[in-house]
Amino acid sequence: MTSPASKIELLRLTQAEWSERLDSPDRARAMARWIFSDEARALAHDDAPDSAAPDSITSTTPLSLSLPASIPAVSHRVLDRWRESLDFHVPRCRSRQRSSDGTIKYALAVGSGANIESVLIPARGRSTLCVSSQVGCTRHCAFCATARLGFRRNLRAEEIVGQFWRARHDAPQSSPLRNIVFMGMGEPLDNLDEVLRAIAILTQQPEPQLSARNITVSTSGVLPGMVRLLSESRVNLALSLNATTDETRRHLMPQTAQWPIGALLDLLRHDAQTNPGRDVFIEMVLFDSVNDSEDDARRLIDLLQGVNARVNLIAHNAFDGSPFRPTTSERLQRFKDIVLNAGIRCLTRVPRGQEIAAACGQLALRHA
Ligand code: SAH
Repeated sequence: MTSPASKIELLRLTQAEWSERLDSPDRARAMARWIFSDEARALAHDDAPDSAAPDSITSTTPLSLSLPASIPAVSHRVLDRWRESLDFHVPRCRSRQRSSDGTIKYALAVGSGANIESVLIPARGRSTLCVSSQVGCTRHCAFCATARLGFRRNLRAEEIVGQFWRARHDAPQSSPLRNIVFMGMGEPLDNLDEVLRAIAILTQQPEPQLSARNITVSTSGVLPGMVRLLSESRVNLALSLNATTDETRRHLMPQTAQWPIGALLDLLRHDAQTNPGRDVFIEMVLFDSVNDSEDDARRLIDLLQGVNARVNLIAHNAFDGSPFRPTTSERLQRFKDIVLNAGIRCLTRVPRGQEIAAACGQLALRHA
Protein backbone atom coordinates (compact mmCIF):
# COMPACT_ATOMS: atom_id res chain seq x y z
CA MET A 1 0.00 0.00 0.00
CA THR A 2 1.27 3.43 -0.89
CA SER A 3 0.02 6.60 0.74
CA PRO A 4 -1.49 9.19 -1.57
CA ALA A 5 0.06 12.65 -1.75
CA SER A 6 -3.08 14.68 -1.11
CA LYS A 7 -6.37 14.13 0.67
CA ILE A 8 -9.12 12.40 -1.19
CA GLU A 9 -12.87 12.57 -0.60
CA LEU A 10 -14.60 9.42 0.57
CA LEU A 11 -17.61 9.87 -1.71
CA ARG A 12 -15.32 10.35 -4.70
CA LEU A 13 -13.65 6.95 -4.90
CA THR A 14 -14.80 4.14 -7.15
CA GLN A 15 -14.54 0.50 -6.11
CA ALA A 16 -11.42 0.02 -8.25
CA GLU A 17 -9.76 2.96 -6.52
CA TRP A 18 -10.72 1.71 -3.06
CA SER A 19 -9.38 -1.73 -3.94
CA GLU A 20 -6.08 -0.27 -4.90
CA ARG A 21 -5.83 1.88 -1.81
CA LEU A 22 -6.99 -0.73 0.69
CA ASP A 23 -5.14 -3.50 -1.10
CA SER A 24 -8.19 -5.74 -1.26
CA PRO A 25 -11.50 -5.88 -3.15
CA ASP A 26 -13.18 -7.25 -0.01
CA ARG A 27 -12.18 -4.20 2.00
CA ALA A 28 -13.30 -2.00 -0.90
CA ARG A 29 -16.75 -3.58 -0.80
CA ALA A 30 -16.89 -3.22 2.97
CA MET A 31 -16.05 0.45 2.58
CA ALA A 32 -18.89 0.99 0.09
CA ARG A 33 -21.34 -0.83 2.37
CA TRP A 34 -20.34 1.37 5.26
CA ILE A 35 -20.33 4.68 3.35
CA PHE A 36 -23.92 4.16 2.21
CA SER A 37 -25.11 2.68 5.54
CA ASP A 38 -27.57 4.21 7.99
CA GLU A 39 -24.70 4.41 10.45
CA ALA A 40 -22.64 6.65 8.16
CA ARG A 41 -25.65 8.75 7.23
CA ALA A 42 -26.40 9.28 10.93
CA LEU A 43 -23.09 11.13 11.27
CA ALA A 44 -24.65 14.10 9.45
CA HIS A 45 -27.16 15.55 11.88
CA ASP A 46 -27.26 19.06 10.49
CA ASP A 47 -30.55 18.51 8.68
CA ALA A 48 -32.69 21.55 8.90
CA PRO A 49 -36.10 20.68 10.38
CA ASP A 50 -38.86 20.61 7.77
CA SER A 51 -40.46 23.65 9.32
CA ALA A 52 -37.31 25.80 9.25
CA ALA A 53 -37.28 28.92 7.13
CA PRO A 54 -35.11 28.42 4.03
CA ASP A 55 -32.35 30.68 5.30
CA SER A 56 -32.34 29.71 8.97
CA ILE A 57 -29.05 27.84 8.54
CA THR A 58 -26.56 30.38 7.36
CA SER A 59 -23.33 28.40 7.19
CA THR A 60 -22.31 27.66 3.61
CA THR A 61 -19.37 25.37 4.31
CA PRO A 62 -19.83 21.70 3.51
CA LEU A 63 -20.21 19.44 6.52
CA SER A 64 -17.06 17.64 7.63
CA LEU A 65 -17.64 14.15 9.10
CA SER A 66 -15.16 11.96 11.00
CA LEU A 67 -14.52 8.33 10.28
CA PRO A 68 -15.29 5.98 13.17
CA ALA A 69 -12.53 4.01 14.92
CA SER A 70 -13.24 0.99 12.77
CA ILE A 71 -15.52 -0.16 10.00
CA PRO A 72 -16.79 -3.74 9.70
CA ALA A 73 -14.20 -5.78 7.75
CA VAL A 74 -11.77 -2.85 7.59
CA SER A 75 -9.47 -3.11 10.56
CA HIS A 76 -8.35 -0.36 12.85
CA ARG A 77 -4.85 -0.74 11.56
CA VAL A 78 -5.80 -0.32 7.88
CA LEU A 79 -8.16 2.53 8.63
CA ASP A 80 -5.62 4.38 10.75
CA ARG A 81 -3.13 4.19 7.96
CA TRP A 82 -5.56 5.98 5.67
CA ARG A 83 -7.36 8.24 8.12
CA GLU A 84 -5.06 11.20 7.57
CA SER A 85 -5.42 11.09 3.82
CA LEU A 86 -9.21 10.81 3.65
CA ASP A 87 -11.75 13.60 3.88
CA PHE A 88 -15.43 12.99 4.37
CA HIS A 89 -17.32 16.12 3.33
CA VAL A 90 -20.98 16.16 2.41
CA PRO A 91 -23.08 19.09 1.22
CA ARG A 92 -24.62 20.94 4.18
CA CYS A 93 -28.39 20.88 4.31
CA ARG A 94 -29.61 24.48 4.60
CA SER A 95 -33.25 23.71 4.15
CA ARG A 96 -35.52 20.80 3.47
CA GLN A 97 -38.92 21.84 2.25
CA ARG A 98 -41.74 19.35 1.95
CA SER A 99 -44.55 19.86 -0.51
CA SER A 100 -48.08 18.51 0.09
CA ASP A 101 -47.53 15.97 -2.72
CA GLY A 102 -44.58 14.45 -0.80
CA THR A 103 -41.85 16.11 -2.89
CA ILE A 104 -38.87 17.29 -0.84
CA LYS A 105 -36.60 20.09 -2.03
CA TYR A 106 -33.15 20.39 -0.47
CA ALA A 107 -31.06 23.51 -0.52
CA LEU A 108 -27.50 22.31 -0.03
CA ALA A 109 -24.38 24.35 0.62
CA VAL A 110 -21.19 23.25 -1.11
CA GLY A 111 -18.88 26.04 0.07
CA SER A 112 -17.97 29.68 -0.72
CA GLY A 113 -21.56 30.81 -0.66
CA ALA A 114 -22.51 28.28 -3.32
CA ASN A 115 -25.87 26.60 -3.02
CA ILE A 116 -27.36 23.84 -5.08
CA GLU A 117 -30.73 22.16 -4.99
CA SER A 118 -31.96 18.61 -5.33
CA VAL A 119 -35.51 17.34 -5.37
CA LEU A 120 -36.72 13.97 -4.04
CA ILE A 121 -39.87 12.83 -5.81
CA PRO A 122 -41.59 9.81 -4.23
CA ALA A 123 -43.90 7.80 -6.48
CA ARG A 124 -45.59 4.46 -6.11
CA GLY A 125 -42.95 1.79 -5.52
CA ARG A 126 -39.90 3.97 -6.08
CA SER A 127 -38.56 7.46 -5.61
CA THR A 128 -36.61 9.62 -8.01
CA LEU A 129 -33.96 12.17 -7.13
CA CYS A 130 -33.41 15.13 -9.41
CA VAL A 131 -29.75 16.14 -8.94
CA SER A 132 -27.73 19.21 -9.87
CA SER A 133 -24.49 18.94 -11.82
CA GLN A 134 -23.27 22.55 -11.68
CA VAL A 135 -23.58 25.59 -9.41
CA GLY A 136 -25.64 27.70 -11.78
CA CYS A 137 -25.42 26.63 -15.41
CA THR A 138 -23.16 27.07 -18.42
CA ARG A 139 -26.08 27.26 -20.89
CA HIS A 140 -28.40 30.16 -20.45
CA CYS A 141 -31.77 29.04 -21.74
CA ALA A 142 -34.17 31.97 -21.95
CA PHE A 143 -36.94 30.17 -20.04
CA CYS A 144 -34.99 28.68 -17.12
CA ALA A 145 -34.70 30.14 -13.64
CA THR A 146 -31.28 28.58 -13.08
CA ALA A 147 -29.90 30.63 -15.99
CA ARG A 148 -30.46 33.76 -13.91
CA LEU A 149 -27.73 32.62 -11.55
CA GLY A 150 -25.03 32.59 -14.19
CA PHE A 151 -22.35 29.93 -13.91
CA ARG A 152 -20.31 29.49 -10.76
CA ARG A 153 -18.56 26.16 -11.12
CA ASN A 154 -18.88 22.49 -11.94
CA LEU A 155 -19.82 20.16 -9.13
CA ARG A 156 -17.35 17.45 -8.23
CA ALA A 157 -18.46 13.84 -8.39
CA GLU A 158 -18.56 13.61 -4.59
CA GLU A 159 -20.95 16.57 -4.49
CA ILE A 160 -23.25 14.83 -6.94
CA VAL A 161 -23.05 11.52 -5.04
CA GLY A 162 -23.50 13.57 -1.83
CA GLN A 163 -26.96 14.68 -2.99
CA PHE A 164 -27.96 11.03 -3.29
CA TRP A 165 -26.23 10.12 -0.02
CA ARG A 166 -28.38 12.67 1.83
CA ALA A 167 -31.72 12.15 0.14
CA ARG A 168 -31.82 8.36 0.06
CA HIS A 169 -32.74 8.10 3.70
CA ASP A 170 -35.73 10.40 3.32
CA ALA A 171 -37.42 8.22 0.71
CA PRO A 172 -40.47 6.40 2.07
CA GLN A 173 -39.75 2.73 2.87
CA SER A 174 -42.32 1.63 0.34
CA SER A 175 -40.67 3.79 -2.36
CA PRO A 176 -36.89 3.38 -2.12
CA LEU A 177 -34.72 5.83 -4.04
CA ARG A 178 -33.74 3.99 -7.20
CA ASN A 179 -33.96 6.59 -9.96
CA ILE A 180 -31.71 9.53 -10.64
CA VAL A 181 -32.38 12.26 -13.17
CA PHE A 182 -29.78 14.91 -13.98
CA MET A 183 -32.44 17.57 -14.36
CA GLY A 184 -31.55 19.89 -11.51
CA MET A 185 -29.30 22.89 -11.87
CA GLY A 186 -26.66 22.79 -14.58
CA GLU A 187 -25.77 21.24 -17.91
CA PRO A 188 -24.41 17.77 -17.07
CA LEU A 189 -22.64 17.36 -20.41
CA ASP A 190 -20.51 20.43 -19.70
CA ASN A 191 -19.25 18.56 -16.63
CA LEU A 192 -19.06 15.11 -18.12
CA ASP A 193 -15.93 13.74 -16.41
CA GLU A 194 -17.42 14.32 -12.98
CA VAL A 195 -20.90 13.21 -14.03
CA LEU A 196 -19.48 9.93 -15.40
CA ARG A 197 -17.51 9.38 -12.22
CA ALA A 198 -20.64 9.99 -10.12
CA ILE A 199 -22.57 7.52 -12.29
CA ALA A 200 -19.82 4.93 -11.88
CA ILE A 201 -20.10 5.25 -8.09
CA LEU A 202 -23.91 5.28 -7.99
CA THR A 203 -24.10 2.11 -10.09
CA GLN A 204 -21.33 0.21 -8.34
CA GLN A 205 -21.64 -3.06 -6.42
CA PRO A 206 -22.28 -3.70 -3.63
CA GLU A 207 -23.61 -0.24 -2.82
CA PRO A 208 -25.53 1.82 -3.83
CA GLN A 209 -26.17 -0.49 -6.75
CA LEU A 210 -28.45 1.69 -8.85
CA SER A 211 -29.08 0.47 -12.36
CA ALA A 212 -27.74 2.55 -15.25
CA ARG A 213 -31.16 1.98 -16.78
CA ASN A 214 -32.64 3.99 -13.90
CA ILE A 215 -30.37 6.98 -14.43
CA THR A 216 -31.27 9.66 -16.96
CA VAL A 217 -28.93 12.43 -18.05
CA SER A 218 -30.78 15.44 -19.44
CA THR A 219 -29.07 17.81 -21.85
CA SER A 220 -29.82 21.07 -23.58
CA GLY A 221 -28.21 19.47 -26.64
CA VAL A 222 -24.42 19.66 -26.27
CA LEU A 223 -23.58 17.48 -29.24
CA PRO A 224 -19.94 16.50 -28.48
CA GLY A 225 -20.95 15.60 -24.91
CA MET A 226 -23.86 13.54 -26.19
CA VAL A 227 -21.53 11.59 -28.49
CA ARG A 228 -19.25 10.81 -25.59
CA LEU A 229 -21.99 9.97 -23.10
CA LEU A 230 -23.69 7.61 -25.53
CA SER A 231 -20.45 5.80 -26.30
CA GLU A 232 -19.21 5.56 -22.70
CA SER A 233 -22.35 4.90 -20.70
CA ARG A 234 -25.56 2.88 -20.73
CA VAL A 235 -27.65 5.49 -18.93
CA ASN A 236 -30.78 6.96 -20.49
CA LEU A 237 -30.70 10.26 -22.30
CA ALA A 238 -33.21 13.10 -22.26
CA LEU A 239 -32.77 15.71 -24.96
CA SER A 240 -34.40 19.03 -24.11
CA LEU A 241 -35.45 19.80 -27.66
CA ASN A 242 -38.07 22.44 -26.86
CA ALA A 243 -38.44 23.60 -30.47
CA THR A 244 -39.15 22.17 -33.89
CA THR A 245 -37.22 24.72 -35.94
CA ASP A 246 -33.63 25.84 -35.48
CA GLU A 247 -34.82 29.43 -35.49
CA THR A 248 -37.15 28.98 -32.51
CA ARG A 249 -34.56 26.86 -30.77
CA ARG A 250 -31.96 29.61 -31.17
CA HIS A 251 -34.38 32.05 -29.58
CA LEU A 252 -35.12 29.76 -26.62
CA MET A 253 -31.70 28.13 -26.22
CA PRO A 254 -29.11 30.45 -27.78
CA GLN A 255 -26.17 28.71 -26.10
CA THR A 256 -26.66 25.41 -27.87
CA ALA A 257 -27.69 26.85 -31.25
CA GLN A 258 -24.41 25.82 -32.87
CA TRP A 259 -25.73 22.25 -33.00
CA PRO A 260 -28.72 22.06 -35.34
CA ILE A 261 -31.74 19.94 -34.45
CA GLY A 262 -31.00 17.67 -37.43
CA ALA A 263 -27.53 16.79 -36.13
CA LEU A 264 -28.82 16.09 -32.60
CA LEU A 265 -31.51 13.75 -33.88
CA ASP A 266 -29.17 12.03 -36.35
CA LEU A 267 -27.02 11.05 -33.41
CA LEU A 268 -30.05 9.57 -31.62
CA ARG A 269 -31.03 7.67 -34.76
CA HIS A 270 -27.55 6.22 -34.93
CA ASP A 271 -27.54 5.33 -31.23
CA ALA A 272 -30.89 3.55 -31.54
CA GLN A 273 -29.09 1.07 -33.83
CA THR A 274 -26.13 0.47 -31.56
CA ASN A 275 -27.88 0.68 -28.16
CA PRO A 276 -31.47 -0.42 -28.67
CA GLY A 277 -31.92 -0.95 -24.92
CA ARG A 278 -31.43 2.69 -24.01
CA ASP A 279 -34.43 4.86 -23.14
CA VAL A 280 -34.38 8.19 -24.94
CA PHE A 281 -36.70 11.04 -24.06
CA ILE A 282 -37.45 14.15 -26.07
CA GLU A 283 -38.36 16.90 -23.65
CA MET A 284 -40.62 19.69 -24.85
CA VAL A 285 -41.43 22.62 -22.58
CA LEU A 286 -44.45 24.23 -24.20
CA PHE A 287 -44.83 28.00 -24.23
CA ASP A 288 -47.91 29.89 -25.29
CA SER A 289 -47.70 30.74 -29.01
CA VAL A 290 -43.97 29.98 -29.27
CA ASN A 291 -43.76 26.23 -29.86
CA ASP A 292 -47.19 24.82 -29.04
CA SER A 293 -49.02 24.98 -32.40
CA GLU A 294 -50.43 22.08 -34.39
CA ASP A 295 -47.73 22.78 -36.99
CA ASP A 296 -45.11 22.33 -34.28
CA ALA A 297 -46.63 18.98 -33.35
CA ARG A 298 -46.56 17.85 -36.97
CA ARG A 299 -42.99 19.06 -37.50
CA LEU A 300 -41.98 17.15 -34.38
CA ILE A 301 -43.44 13.95 -35.83
CA ASP A 302 -41.40 14.42 -39.02
CA LEU A 303 -38.25 15.19 -37.09
CA LEU A 304 -38.59 12.06 -34.96
CA GLN A 305 -38.82 9.57 -37.81
CA GLY A 306 -36.43 6.73 -36.97
CA VAL A 307 -35.69 8.11 -33.51
CA ASN A 308 -36.77 5.59 -30.89
CA ALA A 309 -37.86 8.09 -28.26
CA ARG A 310 -40.70 9.00 -25.97
CA VAL A 311 -41.86 12.59 -26.00
CA ASN A 312 -42.40 14.27 -22.63
CA LEU A 313 -44.50 17.40 -22.71
CA ILE A 314 -44.51 19.89 -19.89
CA ALA A 315 -46.13 23.28 -19.68
CA HIS A 316 -43.63 26.03 -18.89
CA ASN A 317 -43.31 26.53 -15.14
CA ALA A 318 -43.34 30.25 -14.83
CA PHE A 319 -41.21 32.14 -12.31
CA ASP A 320 -40.82 35.81 -11.45
CA GLY A 321 -39.38 37.59 -14.44
CA SER A 322 -39.97 34.74 -16.89
CA PRO A 323 -40.43 36.22 -20.38
CA PHE A 324 -42.79 33.41 -21.47
CA ARG A 325 -46.29 32.28 -20.68
CA PRO A 326 -47.14 28.59 -20.32
CA THR A 327 -49.21 26.88 -22.96
CA THR A 328 -52.85 26.17 -22.06
CA SER A 329 -54.06 22.71 -21.09
CA GLU A 330 -56.21 22.58 -24.25
CA ARG A 331 -53.27 23.33 -26.54
CA LEU A 332 -51.06 20.88 -24.67
CA GLN A 333 -53.69 18.16 -25.02
CA ARG A 334 -54.09 18.91 -28.75
CA PHE A 335 -50.31 18.73 -29.25
CA LYS A 336 -50.20 15.43 -27.39
CA ASP A 337 -53.08 13.93 -29.40
CA ILE A 338 -51.38 14.76 -32.71
CA VAL A 339 -48.11 13.17 -31.58
CA LEU A 340 -49.86 10.08 -30.18
CA ASN A 341 -51.91 9.66 -33.37
CA ALA A 342 -48.66 9.39 -35.29
CA GLY A 343 -47.77 6.35 -33.16
CA ILE A 344 -45.16 8.15 -31.06
CA ARG A 345 -45.22 7.58 -27.30
CA CYS A 346 -46.01 10.82 -25.55
CA LEU A 347 -46.64 11.72 -21.92
CA THR A 348 -47.52 14.91 -20.14
CA ARG A 349 -45.28 15.55 -17.18
CA VAL A 350 -47.25 16.70 -14.18
CA PRO A 351 -45.25 19.29 -12.25
CA ARG A 352 -44.35 18.15 -8.75
CA GLY A 353 -43.58 20.35 -5.81
CA GLN A 354 -44.67 23.56 -7.50
CA GLU A 355 -45.67 25.30 -4.28
CA ILE A 356 -42.08 24.98 -3.03
CA ALA A 357 -40.60 26.03 -6.40
CA ALA A 358 -39.16 22.55 -6.94
CA ALA A 359 -40.54 21.93 -10.41
CA CYS A 360 -38.44 21.83 -13.60
CA GLY A 361 -36.73 25.08 -14.36
CA GLN A 362 -37.69 26.66 -11.04
CA LEU A 363 -34.58 25.71 -9.12
CA ALA A 364 -32.26 28.23 -7.66
CA LEU A 365 -33.76 31.68 -7.61
CA ARG A 366 -34.66 31.68 -3.94
CA HIS A 367 -31.15 30.88 -2.77
CA ALA A 368 -29.25 33.05 -5.17
N1 SAH B 1 -29.39 21.41 -18.67
C1 SAH B 1 -30.12 20.20 -18.75
C2 SAH B 1 -30.72 19.74 -17.42
C3 SAH B 1 -31.35 20.79 -16.55
S1 SAH B 1 -32.90 21.46 -17.12
C4 SAH B 1 -31.21 20.30 -19.81
O1 SAH B 1 -31.37 21.37 -20.38
O2 SAH B 1 -31.84 19.30 -20.11
C5 SAH B 1 -34.01 20.12 -16.91
C6 SAH B 1 -35.28 20.22 -17.72
O3 SAH B 1 -36.10 21.31 -17.28
C7 SAH B 1 -35.05 20.47 -19.20
O4 SAH B 1 -35.82 19.57 -19.97
C8 SAH B 1 -35.51 21.89 -19.41
O5 SAH B 1 -35.92 22.14 -20.74
C9 SAH B 1 -36.63 21.98 -18.39
N2 SAH B 1 -36.95 23.34 -17.99
C10 SAH B 1 -36.11 24.37 -17.79
N3 SAH B 1 -36.78 25.47 -17.42
C11 SAH B 1 -38.09 25.12 -17.37
C12 SAH B 1 -39.28 25.81 -17.02
N4 SAH B 1 -39.25 27.09 -16.61
N5 SAH B 1 -40.45 25.14 -17.09
C13 SAH B 1 -40.48 23.84 -17.44
N6 SAH B 1 -39.39 23.13 -17.74
C14 SAH B 1 -38.21 23.76 -17.73
